[in-house]
Amino acid sequence: MSKGDDFELHAIIDLIGEHCHLKHSKEDPAENHPAVDYLCQNFGMETSTDNGHATNDSIVDFSVRIPICQECVDALLGDEWVLLYCVNCGSSQWVLKKYSKLNWPFWLHVKWMDVCPICYETEKEKDDDHD
Ligand SMILES: [Zn+2]
Ligand SMILES: [Zn+2]
Repeated sequence: MSKGDDFELHAIIDLIGEHCHLKHSKEDPAENHPAVDYLCQNFGMETSTDNGHATNDSIVDFSVRIPICQECVDALLGDEWVLLYCVNCGSSQWVLKKYSKLNWPFWLHVKWMDVCPICYETEKEKDDDHD
């Protein structure tokens, strides 16, 4: 198992020739946007104790590393947009908070999802094939 530190450098080298992997418009697809950074997040079980205080130790089950362009970096740093990202299938969607029906907290920049409508449809199709 890797501790992850080594991968930071590799990440930067890998970026050459990468394009943004987040959602852009049809008119201006992500392929037109060279990646300038990685959006990284680790997911895992947090270990906590039963006697009331949680520890900061967590076990990383898996991590995501998404090449993103400058435009997406700017959106993530601002408070106007929230990125919905499905870690299951890698689909993403930007939501402008002020036009959203949901009340997104201003500090939230990325909403990581285990499943999205696309996954849901794919799963359903698989089930249909079975019958
Ligand atoms: Zn982008
Ligand atoms: Zn999905």
